[in-house]
Amino acid sequence: MKNKIDYSSDWNLDPAPESTGHIKLKTKYNLFIGGKWVKPKSGKYFATINPATEHKIADVAEAGQADVDAAVKAAKTAYDTVWSKLSGKERGKYIYRIARLIQEKAREFSVIESLDSGKVIRESRDIDIPLAAAHFFYYAGWADKLEYAFPNRQPKSLGVAAQITPWNFPMLMIAWKIAPALAAGNTVVLKPAETTSLTALKLAEVIQEAGLPDGVVNIVTGYGKTGAMMVEHKDVDKVAFTGSTGVGKIIMKSIAGTNKKSTMELGGKAANIIFEDAPLDQAVEGIINGIYFNQGHVCCAGSRLFVQESVYDVVLRKLKDRMESLYVGDPMDKNTDIGAINSKKQLDVINDYIKIGKAEGADIYQPKCKIPKKGFWCKPTLFTNVAQSNRIAQEEIFGPVLAIQTFRTVDEVITKANNTPYGLSAGVWTDKGSKVFNLTSQLKAGVVWANTYNKFDPTSPFGGYKESGHGREGGLHGLEPYLKFD
Ligand code: NAP
Ligand code: MG
Repeated sequence: MKNKIDYSSDWNLDPAPESTGHIKLKTKYNLFIGGKWVKPKSGKYFATINPATEHKIADVAEAGQADVDAAVKAAKTAYDTVWSKLSGKERGKYIYRIARLIQEKAREFSVIESLDSGKVIRESRDIDIPLAAAHFFYYAGWADKLEYAFPNRQPKSLGVAAQITPWNFPMLMIAWKIAPALAAGNTVVLKPAETTSLTALKLAEVIQEAGLPDGVVNIVTGYGKTGAMMVEHKDVDKVAFTGSTGVGKIIMKSIAGTNKKSTMELGGKAANIIFEDAPLDQAVEGIINGIYFNQGHVCCAGSRLFVQESVYDVVLRKLKDRMESLYVGDPMDKNTDIGAINSKKQLDVINDYIKIGKAEGADIYQPKCKIPKKGFWCKPTLFTNVAQSNRIAQEEIFGPVLAIQTFRTVDEVITKANNTPYGLSAGVWTDKGSKVFNLTSQLKAGVVWANTYNKFDPTSPFGGYKESGHGREGGLHGLEPYLKFD
């Protein structure tokens, strides 16, 4: 596997690359159906690449209709004959086993995640994979306590869940979906995003090793049309989708009028708000984390920054200074702050928005850093002189691009922050607790962070309002969409 990167940046730290020698990857992956690896009936495969080098890592099967039918059938049979008959305590044991195996193989999972997605190793190692394991641990604990979780409501499992995940947090989004589904007693057919299938396939190996009964979890890989076949299948009882608002709307139309339950975790355009009384250095670090973390490939990214006018100049200077010190480059280097954009397609989207921002009359700033010649890269970017109506202030870019606006009063910033079709997340930076409580109750967002940003925990529910979707994942709330009640 060729994973050497062409360093052309002005590095002033020695390279500190994570080793890749310990990972075990196949060159070709089949579908994981009924507890076995099966060739796709379509006979088709597609390549998954490393976006930092553009080298192929492996071929992955493309599931067609016959494969999706086989996966749903395996999940239904496993539900009817085994999983729905097991006690919660027994289900919990399997989920704990999966959690422990992910922990044991955490280093391998992190390296594969970074190779396949372009995200920096520091994040996959310290955030994605530990949090994925934590979700399995957390929901394992609920499996035998559902009657206590929902007292006097007699919770019952639904059946087969079709789950579809995006490429920005591949393994973490899978954990958010599979762990509560199994704890609640359902079986699963899951499709990862086409550009980041490898950790899902690694998880299939873990599931085999954990001895989970055949068919309880099936992993089918493929493009969007494979996802559509899953959603439309008559034997699917629940659809859990994380992805773009556009695809979320297509899915909601296709399941309208059926009995299928749904959870939609969709796009966002979060406001990060800095008041003049905020600890400014901390706030600037939080803004950097909020938008440049994971290359801005974050549904809850703080992509709109609102700064109180009196501190605008100083915040802008601090932000630019900090941007100059960000390392853009090899995701496998432990010093890197900003890795590769996940795909050429996404890089084109981001570059189009940068052009749109300039054409709309906003002023652009990018640090002087150089970026590698091969691979997909975008410098951290900020726009000032942005109008509320500009597309860069209204539409989700899903890249490291920040649009800055100013405000004078609390009411003004609440109006501006809520002026978007989305409602996923927001951030507030202030020294005043009363201001925090006022804003958290008035901002129309599923999550509002105060004096921090992008913090996740398995016990805490996550999800959106308006066009950011419906239903919650995480916490007790994350169990409910996988249950029905008498
Ligand atoms: P996407 O294009 O909507 O794709 C998401 C998943 O859906 C992928 O597995 C995709 O397969 C599949 N898909 C595409 N078309 C489909 C269809 N017609 N029917 C069923 N499945 C279909 O989104 P993305 O570009 O991967 O991810 C970025 C988006 O996800 C952003 O909008 C982001 O805000 C959102 N997101 C939201 C949350 C949240 O919790 N709210 C979390 C993370 C990401 P392919 O990969 O093969 O296209
Ligand atoms: Mg890839």
